[in-house]
Amino acid sequence: MKQFSNLKSIKGFMDPDEGECLYRFSLEASKKGPILEIGSYCGKSTIYIGTACKENNSLLYAIDHHTGSEENQIGWEYHDEELFDSETGKINTFPEFRKNIRSFDLEKFVIPIVSDSVLVAKYWTINLSMVFIDGGHSEEAAFNDFDNWNDKIINNGFLAIHDVFPNPDDGGRPPYEIFLKAINSGKFKEYETVKSLKILKKIL
Ligand code: MG
Repeated sequence: MKQFSNLKSIKGFMDPDEGECLYRFSLEASKKGPILEIGSYCGKSTIYIGTACKENNSLLYAIDHHTGSEENQIGWEYHDEELFDSETGKINTFPEFRKNIRSFDLEKFVIPIVSDSVLVAKYWTINLSMVFIDGGHSEEAAFNDFDNWNDKIINNGFLAIHDVFPNPDDGGRPPYEIFLKAINSGKFKEYETVKSLKILKKIL
């Protein structure tokens, strides 16, 4: 899509086909209420979802501690030294995130929440039309995100999960395991798949 052609230069791990799928479902969902994203990194997926929210004058809450996952830290596979913060010894994606959101004119429609997703969930009372889970991929982080947020989605709303790899050779298991847990709960049905992005619809 033309409006996303500038996204190539933005740091991140969201494939354009997956991003456009997120945009499409966000466009439908955000007519009914705000959307929440867990795991923004530098804001690539946030821009796909946020652009849809902007079209419907809705909001995207974007939760990220902005200190990166384990695999983003120094010495790991997905480390980017441009994001390294020598003061903390960790990466800091927040300045880059804000710059990217600003460059797509989305500051009014994207509300960054720089905190821990489980703690935020504890006090969260706003019904959500869609939740996108792309936070930590450890078993603990992935299950925490699903367990604490899935009941905040409205009926007929969407749950999107990134990095779902049914074949273990393609990637880590926890996102796939929470996808299975969602289906087995009887509260969600599989709706669409684009590469490693799964879209589920809330049915209860
Ligand atoms: Mg991801």
